Amino acid sequence: MKSDFSIFFKTSVLLLVLFTHSIHSTYANEEKELGTILTKMGIRYENIAQELGVAYWYFYSAEAEADLKTPKDKFYTLLINDTLNTLIDTWYPNLSEIKDTILKAQVEKWHNVLLSAKVEYDAEIMKLRNELEEMLQVSGEKDNSDYDFESNMLKLIELRNKKSVELGYKNYIHLSFETNGLGYEWFMNFIDEMDKSTLDRYTALVEKTKIENDINEFGQRNAFQFIGQFYGNNDPAKVKDSDNIELVRKSLANIGISYNELPAKLVEMKLPEGVGGQGLMINIPNDFRAVMTLGMEISTWMHEMGHGLHGLYNSINKPVLEGYEWIPGNANPSFAEGMAETSAWFTRNIEWQKEYTNLTEEEIANRKETVNTYITAFIRYHLFNFMRETELYLHPEKTYEKIQKELAKKYLLIETEDIRTQSIASIIYVSYPLYLQNYLIADMVACQVHSTLEEKFGKDYAFNNDVGAYLIKNFYSSGEYYNWNDRLIHGTGKPLDIESYLKYYKIK
Ligand SMILES: [Zn+2]
Repeated sequence: MKSDFSIFFKTSVLLLVLFTHSIHSTYANEEKELGTILTKMGIRYENIAQELGVAYWYFYSAEAEADLKTPKDKFYTLLINDTLNTLIDTWYPNLSEIKDTILKAQVEKWHNVLLSAKVEYDAEIMKLRNELEEMLQVSGEKDNSDYDFESNMLKLIELRNKKSVELGYKNYIHLSFETNGLGYEWFMNFIDEMDKSTLDRYTALVEKTKIENDINEFGQRNAFQFIGQFYGNNDPAKVKDSDNIELVRKSLANIGISYNELPAKLVEMKLPEGVGGQGLMINIPNDFRAVMTLGMEISTWMHEMGHGLHGLYNSINKPVLEGYEWIPGNANPSFAEGMAETSAWFTRNIEWQKEYTNLTEEEIANRKETVNTYITAFIRYHLFNFMRETELYLHPEKTYEKIQKELAKKYLLIETEDIRTQSIASIIYVSYPLYLQNYLIADMVACQVHSTLEEKFGKDYAFNNDVGAYLIKNFYSSGEYYNWNDRLIHGTGKPLDIESYLKYYKIK
């Protein structure tokens, strides 16, 4: 009896081993097939992304007629592809079964891309979006005087919300923050924390201004003066070299990056009124171009070049992990803007300013002091700015005018009733929905990266040849393979560190 049991036991184990083995080899085969299909789809995806990139280049640089429609139609065909959608729908809930971590990251990215495409590439939404883009085009020849921007913008917002509900989300905000990598809960806590930690200092600034200017009620004009003070002192003044492209070249050479060897093209030319410029990562990692109108700040050039470095040193070699910007959900936009600002921040570095501006050390120190005085206005202006778009989706029952007035009171502490509001007809709301918070997070990312650079390379880090290699290794090379907070941990030892940011600007 005992031995019978033993045989039975052994047989069972053997069967179990065989069975498990066959499951594993099935998975291995399936995983291989998944990899093959995703490689094929990735190539198609990248070809279209590049075609659209070139079209946008023509759109901004006016080098040739821009055809945005053809590549967008191709994206539509690819992103509604049944095989692709079924494959991702099958694998995404079973991510933990995927052994190959690069393949796993691709499935996650495709999930985000396809999910946001279900909203942005929905036939009705796309049609309205294209119509609004055409009407809002700066150099557009269409007569838009009779066009009803207000109701069409509201319609677009309503459609995005409606589609998100159909897809199982509470509204478009929830869906969008799942695909952009930040997460809805994180974002809401972030707003709350930034509001609370800046309120006292900002209130004191408002009270001081009221006493000094002998005014009873703090007005919108006063708030805008604060923000003007911040921006006016944050970017370098009295820059010696008027050749911006040459100064970008020097600033990169100082950290060991040779601009001449990069497949990058920077162009300065007069653009239509209202267009500042645009940097485009057309082919990652092989083609970056930026066009800028005359007289742009060096920090703006360095910002755009930062997008370029981020893309040109990407060596992940999997299209969907390279982070093309054309489909929301592909890249983490706050990290991408963070990398652009990390580059811009070199121009805010004291040693850099000593070398490339005619500012005295005292002037530089005074300007830093002014920046610290008005930093809470900068932060709260950003909260106001991106929350007014967010609220449009969260509170469709409120008018845009009412939203703006309420938020101006809440974040900018405006006391007068006389608040000038903006029109809802914004190209950003149409083409880059829920993007504006990225610029505040970008300042925090750049601050954190620069603190690390100073710790590791000393106070002259803006002139250290090894800094470029450090940025490449820790932040650019692996593309979208790691999530944005992991990338920060690799390069700075910490996830986004709000406390240190507040300390840097002497808020805490
Ligand atoms: Zn940018």
